[in-house]
Amino acid sequence: MSGSSIWHPFTQHGLGEEIPLVDRAEGALLHLADGRTLIDAISSWWVTTHGHANPRIMAAIAAQAGKLDQIIFAGYTHAPAEEVAAGLRAIMPESLTRVFFSDSGSTCVEVALKMALGYWQARNEARHRIVVMEHSYHGDTIGAMSVGERGVFTQPYGPLLFDVGRVPFPAAGAEQATLDALEALCAQGDVAAFIVEPLVLGSGGMLFYSPDILAAMQTICAAHGVLFIADEVMTAWGRTGTLLACEQAGVVPDILCLSKGLTGGSVPLAVTMAREEIFQAHWSNDRAKMFFHSSSYTANPIACAAAAENLAIWREEPVLERIADLGTRQQQRLDALAATGVIDNPRRCGTIAAVDLPVRETSGGYLDTRQPRLVAFFREQGVLLRPLGNTVYVMPPYGITDDQLDTVWAAIAEAAARF
Ligand SMILES: *Cc1c(COP(=O)(O)O)cnc(C)c1O
Repeated sequence: MSGSSIWHPFTQHGLGEEIPLVDRAEGALLHLADGRTLIDAISSWWVTTHGHANPRIMAAIAAQAGKLDQIIFAGYTHAPAEEVAAGLRAIMPESLTRVFFSDSGSTCVEVALKMALGYWQARNEARHRIVVMEHSYHGDTIGAMSVGERGVFTQPYGPLLFDVGRVPFPAAGAEQATLDALEALCAQGDVAAFIVEPLVLGSGGMLFYSPDILAAMQTICAAHGVLFIADEVMTAWGRTGTLLACEQAGVVPDILCLSKGLTGGSVPLAVTMAREEIFQAHWSNDRAKMFFHSSSYTANPIACAAAAENLAIWREEPVLERIADLGTRQQQRLDALAATGVIDNPRRCGTIAAVDLPVRETSGGYLDTRQPRLVAFFREQGVLLRPLGNTVYVMPPYGITDDQLDTVWAAIAEAAARF
């Protein structure tokens, strides 16, 4: 695409890498403009759940587009938004009574942080500190970066990011250190909220930890009155084997962030769900105490129609069975590859499978020089994969076929041997 003036995200244009032109997609298959096809093994960056161009969701979008495109959401409402809110209330934890709309994972995290800080402000308690987990990712806006892992991605903005408390990642065998650190921070009395990705740290390298630890962390927060924010932007909608990852730990957060698969991965939309007390803390007859947050496209009707249809699919189709089946199919391929001994640390959580390529001299973390070569190699094999450093993960749409999955894992086996 030489001649294009587009500045792409997370792309070093100076490397001159190919930027394919994608024409259309269905299921797990992408069709490029030049006739090539690619199997989308990362759900187009973790968003596509059922498959691309799901016919029910596409029809819902088309129907809504013929009716109401956009409406200011301050002081107005519409049927698709009401339907999404009611649908979420019906399947999400009962105590999350309030639904605030926004438009991306980063913005629903910003909303969650502002809700938590507003809650303590309204209660006149001086709690301003946010506690986070090492290796976390919560988005790329300034607030979301502040609560995420610092590194090469955030280095230029470091002086502007706010300070947070950090607990170590609960690596196997070192879980107690995480719990002790969380206890010590929460005991200081100035912590407003703890934000965490339940069970899987995605961008941090597909790092998994156990439901027991998630539950233990919530118990500590609850004991100190610290709000527990679950960022399920990636983990929700069945990715980890259950609708929410929190379910596996019996954890109900105070604030829940949802985006990516909320519309089945078709169009942008996000929600932040909150407990009634958090809403009530902002409830007053004083206009100075309202929740000061909005984006222009808050609860866009077309996006809400897509989300409402996604919720209907969850109610009416055997989605959890498809997810369980995909987990089994992933495990079979993972076991077969692990048996060859060419990869390290094979792991799976629900539909997500990951392996680490052996670390060679060239390894440089996220900027591992193999990464762009691997991406290009996988593309030659007809597969869209985007390793995180030396971690190769497969997070496909739930409708991926057996043949497609075989092609993906064959490409990984080949890469493990070559790179
Ligand atoms: C992707 C992601 C985000 C950011 O979502 P965007 O829609 O890209 O802004 C936030 N949190 C987690 C856990 C994510 O995986």
